[in-house]
Amino acid sequence: MKSNTQLVSAGRHPERFAGVVNTPIFRASTILADSMAEWDAMKRARAADQVGASTYGRFGTPTTHALEEAVAAIEGGYRSLVYPSGLAAIATVLTALLAAGDHVLVPDSAYSPTRTFLMQVLARYDVEVTCYDPLVACGIDTLMRPNTRVVYVESPGSETFEIQDVPAIAAVAHAQGAVVVMDNTWGTPLFFKPFEHGVDVSIQAATKYIVGHSDAMLGIATCTRETWLKVKQATYDMGQTAGPDEIYLALRGLRTMGVRLQQHGASGLRIAQWLEDQPDVEVVLHPGLPSHPGHVLWKRDFTGACGLFAIVLRTRSQKALTAFVDALQHFGLGVSWGGYESLAIPFTPGKSHVGARWPYQGLALRLHVGLEDTEDLIDDLRHGFEALQRVQSVAEESYA
Ligand SMILES: *Cc1c(COP(=O)(O)O)cnc(C)c1O
Repeated sequence: MKSNTQLVSAGRHPERFAGVVNTPIFRASTILADSMAEWDAMKRARAADQVGASTYGRFGTPTTHALEEAVAAIEGGYRSLVYPSGLAAIATVLTALLAAGDHVLVPDSAYSPTRTFLMQVLARYDVEVTCYDPLVACGIDTLMRPNTRVVYVESPGSETFEIQDVPAIAAVAHAQGAVVVMDNTWGTPLFFKPFEHGVDVSIQAATKYIVGHSDAMLGIATCTRETWLKVKQATYDMGQTAGPDEIYLALRGLRTMGVRLQQHGASGLRIAQWLEDQPDVEVVLHPGLPSHPGHVLWKRDFTGACGLFAIVLRTRSQKALTAFVDALQHFGLGVSWGGYESLAIPFTPGKSHVGARWPYQGLALRLHVGLEDTEDLIDDLRHGFEALQRVQSVAEESYA
């Protein structure tokens, strides 16, 4: 089945819900049994890990299981679990797979709350954390220790957009008995197939493109058969569960994610190309551009790009950056991404980021290209550059 067909059909069972196309929103804590015999059967089904088995709202309802089934199918893993946010999924999976005395490798380009969770929370429970250069590839070999249990990857890097050689890293990790956990939010379940590249647990911040409309928080972890039981157990032990409305919005978003991403990707690339020609731009960090250092790897491993990338302006003046951002009308100023609307947010590459990988001089911005017409977005950015130039020419006059 091709991906758009899969997006439309995965996890849908109208025959179970009076023919209704979409799996309804089930609100549940208590789930009743008809008899002791049925209650025992429900408990046995849960213990046997049957798909859709539940004895309590926290273990999911048909709404929950529909999303889990759909994402596992599309991402190509064994089974999935939903969480109240992307970060909850990350924190739970890492807790599930690590114990006191274990060592974990995390790229210094990972989403910064992920690194904070490892360094501020799991470190307190005697987990050793090493940040590594995302471009290390099979050089990860020299960083592996006998107690390395998890090698975390995120490609491209959050904000800095390094493309990692995931298959090379996974080969080393597996040879030494570690599992590979990936934040695949940028790649989405469509553009990067984690389980074909050696990943053992793939995490989606469904808040982004799966929900796709900036109106819900949700996370999803998809596991291999080997990692499933550990992750599931920790998820239930930690009381992780997500609300039915959020899950419904994710299911609804999923159905149109293919066409949305096609548009985000095409507009994003077109705007990235336009930005490369602007004199006020030092560099555009978009893996789909031939100028991007990770372009060849991206072409090898990914089948598309979403609407998220970064630019570095030539200016180092905060005032000029402020003028640029404040002049934008269609690009909203705010965090998150993956919704239908465009966003721009300044960032400073994190302190722990390997200096050699950030050779740029100017101030950086992350852009999310939404579903607006590209002509309007380019006009918007043009106004931003005009505002930036006005600030710079005033500054030059006052020096003169
Ligand atoms: C947003 C984001 C997350 C966290 O997701 P939330 O739903 O906001 O908790 C994790 N990873 C990446 C790459 C993200 O962009």
